[in-house]
Amino acid sequence: MTLISKWNFPTTILFGPGRISELPAVLKSAGIARPLFVTDPGLAKLPVVADTFAILDKAGVDYAVFSDVKPNPVESNLAAGIAAFKSGSHDGVIAFGGGSALDLGKLVAFQAGQSRPIWDFEDVGDWWTRADSAAIAPVIAVPTTAGTGSEVGRAGVLTNEATHTKKVIFHPKMLPVTVIADPELTVGMPKAITAGTGMDALAHCLEAYCAPGYHPMADGIALEGIRLVLENLPRAYADGTDIEARAHMMSAAAMGATAFQKGLGAIHSLSHPIGALYDTHHGMTNALFMPHVLDFNRPAIEERLERLAAYCGISGGFDGFRRKIMDLRTELSVPSTLRDLIPGLDMDEARRDLIAEMAIVDPTAGGNPVELTKEAALALLEKSM
Ligand code: NAD
Repeated sequence: MTLISKWNFPTTILFGPGRISELPAVLKSAGIARPLFVTDPGLAKLPVVADTFAILDKAGVDYAVFSDVKPNPVESNLAAGIAAFKSGSHDGVIAFGGGSALDLGKLVAFQAGQSRPIWDFEDVGDWWTRADSAAIAPVIAVPTTAGTGSEVGRAGVLTNEATHTKKVIFHPKMLPVTVIADPELTVGMPKAITAGTGMDALAHCLEAYCAPGYHPMADGIALEGIRLVLENLPRAYADGTDIEARAHMMSAAAMGATAFQKGLGAIHSLSHPIGALYDTHHGMTNALFMPHVLDFNRPAIEERLERLAAYCGISGGFDGFRRKIMDLRTELSVPSTLRDLIPGLDMDEARRDLIAEMAIVDPTAGGNPVELTKEAALALLEKSM
């Protein structure tokens, strides 16, 4: 089976090993003459970035680099990115990296031309219509992790440091015009990042699949995405150079983000406040809550999970699938409790109360198949301790 193809759903994706070499041609066809290359400081030091610069240099592309991007990016990263975009008179963005750099790159291209504060564009109702859509610069997205699927998404996540909350900023034109999904770029991911990002892709597919509502396209995509993760994440984790497994994980990541337009759920509702308050890795945090949220949702999803298990060749329905998740977590050395995830964790009652309150108002809570009450959120937190 060839790993090379061209997809236009939900945007154009140039998929396959080696396709990063097409970046100059992609910029040209997007009409971007002077891109700002947005990445994070860790990646900026790695060969994967140097090799990409060599491709751009050879083609004579006139670009500049911005890499002041925290994992879980914050408003000051955005302000600095916008300043770089404006001072360099850039006309587009190459967003290159994991979800953090992709989101920040998308947010810079979006916000550089707006006059209202970024928080006015939170994903609430039709707030996105407040934006001047003609002023949004085009983005070419190049993922180097296989998890968030931000490359195919119309949103960027930004932490509001004043309120310690992660906010989703949405606009349809934030969707990158072209994605280069080259699995060779993910080969250098450390094991823990491979595990965490892969579990993020799984969480996206699983929550989308379990979310109530009629969306057979999302369901179908999520189902196959889950199968791809279960079969390929252990392989990519065991041997980071396994390009076929890396490629399938890259597909699963994009599929997760495509499917979650249907909805997410309590895994994310809990993971978001934990990430905002403790700066934990998003995917790893999702992995931690996954079995507890499955148990909580069981009455509403048992039959769905039976079909899912059968599709994935797992016997034992809901219990069989849950066992598979627990085995996968062990295989990938996912921390089994919040205390393992956050060394020295000090979470008193007031803090737990705050997290539960943040979880129930998180925009993802509405997609959970069982209502996430404050008591339920507290109980899930307790279990994860
Ligand atoms: P990340 O982007 O924060 O990167 C984690 C670490 O991995 C960084 O240190 C980075 O330098 C390193 N890294 C990335 N690629 C590498 C490679 N190929 N080789 C070696 N090191 C590499 O991690 P992530 O999980 O991809 O993204 C998490 C972020 O994405 C969070 O901010 C989260 O809120 C956001 N997110 C966004 C969406 C969305 O729909 N837009 C969805 C989920 C999560």
